[in-house]
Amino acid sequence: MLDKFYDVIVVGAGPSGTTAARFAAEQGVSVIVLEKDRDVGYPVRCGEAVSKEGIEPFIQPDPKWIASTINSFILISPDETEVKINFNRTGYILERRIFDYELGKLAAKAGAQIITKAYVYDLLKEDGKITGVKVEHNGEQKEIRGKIIIGADGVESRIGRFAGIKTHVKISDMECCVQFTVSSISVNPNACYFYFGTEYSPGGYLWIFPKGSDSANIGLGIGGDKAKHRSPISYINHFLDKKYPQVPKLTMISGGVPCSFTLEEIVKDNVMLVGDAARQVNPLSGGGITSGMIGGSIAGEIAGKAIKQNNFKLLQQYPEIWHQRVGKRHEIYYKIKNAIYNFSDKTLNSIAHSAIKIPEDERTLLSIFKIALYDKPSLIFDFAKIFFY
Ligand SMILES: Cc1cc2nc3c(=O)[nH]c(=O)nc-3n(C[C@H](O)[C@H](O)[C@H](O)COP(=O)(O)OP(=O)(O)OC[C@H]3O[C@@H](n4cnc5c(N)ncnc54)[C@H](O)[C@@H]3O)c2cc1C
Repeated sequence: MLDKFYDVIVVGAGPSGTTAARFAAEQGVSVIVLEKDRDVGYPVRCGEAVSKEGIEPFIQPDPKWIASTINSFILISPDETEVKINFNRTGYILERRIFDYELGKLAAKAGAQIITKAYVYDLLKEDGKITGVKVEHNGEQKEIRGKIIIGADGVESRIGRFAGIKTHVKISDMECCVQFTVSSISVNPNACYFYFGTEYSPGGYLWIFPKGSDSANIGLGIGGDKAKHRSPISYINHFLDKKYPQVPKLTMISGGVPCSFTLEEIVKDNVMLVGDAARQVNPLSGGGITSGMIGGSIAGEIAGKAIKQNNFKLLQQYPEIWHQRVGKRHEIYYKIKNAIYNFSDKTLNSIAHSAIKIPEDERTLLSIFKIALYDKPSLIFDFAKIFFY
């Protein structure tokens, strides 16, 4: 079944991996994607929220993978003050198992081979060089050779470590998440809810993302340092018991989200890392779908060109282009995250009280910032820290 050689080997068939594979295959080189699970897109470990703007460069919106269309955010402070912000763009809550599958089909259409139940357990090294991967497929161990390996193997990535890349993330930056998909609840199908404060999600936030009007993803992420003292599951159970007792829980997932900035090294020799494996996650929101697809598209295209031109020095362009397009913005978001997630409940309440004084049609994140500063001048120091420290 498996050829013994491909120009590009992609490990992992999440959104970053299939996008990398597609962009490499579009350069006319041979590409294989190896996915350890049985299905592309399943199991889903995600809140499934994206912006239309973020995914449109890669895939045209299709109702079959859109569970809800979002036009407002409701931010809820520790004292339960609700601040509604109209989103002047469009958001989606996805059906990721279908969305990821469609991304896989686009990669296949571009010419990439995709194999599931193919677990990469090591890199193949010959004469001190990385020449491919070792894979277990259908109970058999095989070797596949390739010129470039793209590690798209998610938050628990081992490809980076196998290649000698430092992939460590500070414990406080690793958000520990847990989420239930619940049914038989009444939710506004067009609004995302975010709860802040120490009661439900210290060092993070709790979300309710609607999937239609009677179902939702309810999850939270708390800083890894906080999770050492009390588990995320106990926080979410506390929330559900209080707000939605007895609600039917259709699925439960847990996982880490690296809310740091991109790894210092995302290319080493002929190995490239993309998506969660490269820590290409928006550190403020924890969203990694669209940024992983951007990382995958840049890496895939460069890999394809490097092979066509037989010029592997081209791979070094990847970190630079990524940094210019997204990475440097993530560095700013990281500073903002560290300030906001450390606000006391009192400060969060004070910001919310100021924000609800703004007429709803004029309320934006920026206007909240401004009023909060006016109402509570000491916040200037907190915000100053965001930008100057
Ligand atoms: C609870 C939770 C909620 C989230 N909510 C959101 C959200 O609302 N919006 C958002 O944008 N992001 C969200 N994220 C983050 C988002 O899920 C990830 O950033 C995104 O999936 C990253 O895509 P990826 O392709 O890099 O990795 P993944 O989607 O994790 O894909 C990696 C793939 O690699 C495979 N793999 C791993 N190791 C191997 C191996 N050795 N051999 C072969 N295959 C392997 C895995 O099976 C997997 O299919 C959330 C994450 C969590 C945990």
